[in-house]
Amino acid sequence: MEFPGISASPGIARGRAFLFLDDKLAIPRHHIEASQVDYEFGRFLTALGKASKEVEGLARGRNAKLFDAQLLMFDDPDLKDKVRSALEEEQRNVEWVLAQIMEEMSQKLEAADSQYLRERTVDFSDAGNRILGHLLFRPKVQLTDVKSEVILVTHNLMPSDTLGLDRRLVLGIAADVGGKTSHTAILARSSEIPAVLGLSDITRHVKAGDDMIVDGIRGIVIVEPDELTQEMYDERKREWQRRYVVLKEMRQLPAETVDGKLVSIEANIELPEEAESVLTHGGDGIGLFRSEFLFLQPNHFPSEEDQYQAYSSVLKAMRGRSVTIRTLDLGGDKVMPGFSLEADANPLLGWRAIRFCLSKPDIFRTQLRALLRASVNGNLRIMFPLISGTEELSRIEETVSEVKADLARENVPFRPETAMGIMIEVPSAALSSDILADQADFFSIGTNDLIQYTLAVDRGNERVAYLYEPFHPGVLRLIRTTIENAHAHGLPVGMCGEMAGDPLATVVLLGLGLDSFSMGPIAIPLVKRIIRSVGVMEAESFARSLVPMKSAADIEEAARKWMEERLDFFSW
Ligand code: PEP
Ligand code: MG
Repeated sequence: MEFPGISASPGIARGRAFLFLDDKLAIPRHHIEASQVDYEFGRFLTALGKASKEVEGLARGRNAKLFDAQLLMFDDPDLKDKVRSALEEEQRNVEWVLAQIMEEMSQKLEAADSQYLRERTVDFSDAGNRILGHLLFRPKVQLTDVKSEVILVTHNLMPSDTLGLDRRLVLGIAADVGGKTSHTAILARSSEIPAVLGLSDITRHVKAGDDMIVDGIRGIVIVEPDELTQEMYDERKREWQRRYVVLKEMRQLPAETVDGKLVSIEANIELPEEAESVLTHGGDGIGLFRSEFLFLQPNHFPSEEDQYQAYSSVLKAMRGRSVTIRTLDLGGDKVMPGFSLEADANPLLGWRAIRFCLSKPDIFRTQLRALLRASVNGNLRIMFPLISGTEELSRIEETVSEVKADLARENVPFRPETAMGIMIEVPSAALSSDILADQADFFSIGTNDLIQYTLAVDRGNERVAYLYEPFHPGVLRLIRTTIENAHAHGLPVGMCGEMAGDPLATVVLLGLGLDSFSMGPIAIPLVKRIIRSVGVMEAESFARSLVPMKSAADIEEAARKWMEERLDFFSW
């Protein structure tokens, strides 16, 4: 059985399916007699015991502290009393009663003044769902249960789901939803895991343990392949690895065009530990460290010191190379435990990224302090996400000046000249980039969001994925405007959206004058190879030849043809 989807991370993987279905449990509701209360309460205690044992098991692992709050809840006599009295009053089955108590408690916790209590909402729901799972004979599957090499089959993968996951054990990913620039895709590419997303309902066609092939190059998943298909894929996999070896040989060479223009090829990372892989893949620096991943850990809100350590470790690992750390970009599909950002009716147009930070001065200041303190440990640039106008920049400037003044007063060392730049990912920012240039040291174009907002296409929705067109004339005009305005004001301009790592876009972007490209480490060698094979003059005239073209399809076709005619390795 062959299923077409969206190729989200290249490579070919074969293995056994591991189903991760985090669907909501359906809760039955029925009347019970007063005489059945004891029996129902007994069922609750048995399920509670099982859930508690399960968590004790998890707590023996690496992240023991994460489970403290859940263990306390299992022991809490108050919870037992609440269940008992609700059973007596409501005379409903225990699953229903427990679900009601959980709902009420979660609302109270979420509305609490104390941040500590708000953060406990996740623990409470997790603990409650575990008990419900046992009552309904549906124990919760978790990604920490992955103990051997598997193909991960899931409906969707939230960034926080993947934290306990040993990524080395995931050979491939197949998911019902998600597009090329969804965070699952980004995570798969940064971990070099072949992935096919947007498969609609693959979770309904696969059973745990099925033999599967994930072809991340063509965007196809095959379930229970026959012998011929297996042989064909074994050969494809060997071919893919051979090409990879060829590319690896050139990755430490500079990204210099044949006529001598040097550009910077940098990497995007999510976790501090990924810094080493940037160097092994030949990255000239880090163009985007998505700092929000430090904040997505359940039960652990990073303190100033935690953040200082994390940022310093990346700066030190990069040994003087440029490191661009982006301030907290929460919202959309990046939801921090304890903050119900998902309550926004339109999360992608709502309270996210810099908007969230500017309304949470404590969180923002703490991060700025940690970043500035870390600045003495390397070559740091600080970057602000989702800027839409100058008002935000003025408020940022004000906060930065105050934080700097505090640090100076406390005699804490930092580099006052640390560069501060902005992401251009909202059309208004691209169109007014000449104005914004006065208040920034650099620009970085975030095409993942810029394309989504320009074309009004949710970047994670596979049903409209066909409209998500990086080569749309409207998108290219915004990119060109941003680069021209940046250069006219003497600002360097890079790109850290996924388009920067798309080999088909390399020559176009080079021709438009982009100074630095930042991408998942795995994409670096091929982009470098392309840049080392072309001249900047011919790239510029090629980019000019695209201007009169009317559609994304025409432009993409022209780019493919141009590349295939000149670069024999491109048809790979
Ligand atoms: C972007 O929008 O292009 C970007 C790099 O940011 P993120 O993918 O984290 O939203
Ligand atoms: Mg973005």
